[in-house]
Amino acid sequence: MPTYSYACTVCGHRFDAVQSIHAAALTECPECKAELRRVFGNVGVTFKGSGFYRTDSRASKSSSD
Ligand SMILES: [Zn+2]
Repeated sequence: MPTYSYACTVCGHRFDAVQSIHAAALTECPECKAELRRVFGNVGVTFKGSGFYRTDSRASKSSSD
C-alpha cells in the first residue's frame, strides 16, 4: 500500500500514513484536530514518469509448445 505524507496546517505536525488507494484522505490532525494537508514529493512510491512502459516486443503469454 502506498504511504501518504501529511502535515498539519496549524501545529506543523508531520506524519506518514499507510493507506489503501481507495481510502479517503485524512483531514484532521491527530495532535490538535486542525486541518491537514497532503504533502507530495516525499514519497518513495511513484507511478508517474517516463520509462515506466517496457518496449519489449515479446508477449508475456506462456506458450505451451
Ligand atoms: Zn496539528
